[in-house]
Amino acid sequence: MPKSTFTALGVYKMLPQTNCGKCFLPSCLAFAAAIVAGRKKFKDCPDLDPERTAEFSAKFESPGSRDVDQAEFINKLKKKMSTINFETVAPLIGATVQDDSIIINSMGKDFVFDRQGNMVSECHIIPWVQAPLLSYITYKTHGDITGKWMSFREIKGGIEWQALFTSRCEEPLRKLADENPGLLNDLIDLFMGKTIDWYEADIALILYPMPKIPVLICYQAPEDDLGSKLTIFFDECCSTNLHIKSIFTLSSGLVQMFTKIAEHHL
Ligand code: SF4
Repeated sequence: MPKSTFTALGVYKMLPQTNCGKCFLPSCLAFAAAIVAGRKKFKDCPDLDPERTAEFSAKFESPGSRDVDQAEFINKLKKKMSTINFETVAPLIGATVQDDSIIINSMGKDFVFDRQGNMVSECHIIPWVQAPLLSYITYKTHGDITGKWMSFREIKGGIEWQALFTSRCEEPLRKLADENPGLLNDLIDLFMGKTIDWYEADIALILYPMPKIPVLICYQAPEDDLGSKLTIFFDECCSTNLHIKSIFTLSSGLVQMFTKIAEHHL
């Protein structure tokens, strides 16, 4: 359903239509109206299966409500920053401490955070990177890179987010790589990436959006009747170092950035 037909009735047709009240609203139609108004989210209906919830959320939920959520999330993380001992955490996450600030390198660029969670960077501030970096610094556990790769689905909590990850990250990046054959190679130079040999991939590129969050992008170009294929893998340590929601935010932000780069520079 295109966004122009995103109406309460259109949303209602996607719901179980049992009027069970588990969403704390009297009917599915009331729930549909609340979705359109940005007061409820598809995940608030417990009778929708997780894959459909993720799929509908990606297509139809109001970006405004996501912005509010994001601002609240960042504020929460900023408060948490004041409880973090920079000197203890920095070596565990591959960061450094200087002048009472913690410095994290993300794909060749330094991002500096003070104890209130404010961020400055040597490059243009990219809003989507702030929340994942704050999450990374304040996360409850920290692990070293293992060299073992896992799919997004295999990360703790990944199954629930898989449909959204496919529609926002892997699919757009695959299409972008199809349309811009040199793109992935150019990303290696732009973001200090490196390549490895990978079974059945024409190019397998490792990037470090955070020092201990290595991401492996494997791309196979289309050939004869076979379509292209792109899969994004994560080092096993990502499960220990970042919450699945932040891994998703980070990945979708990266793909949006690559899209802009392809439009403007390549
Ligand atoms: S919980 Fe889902 S099925 Fe039940 S009333 Fe709300 S929208 Fe309808």
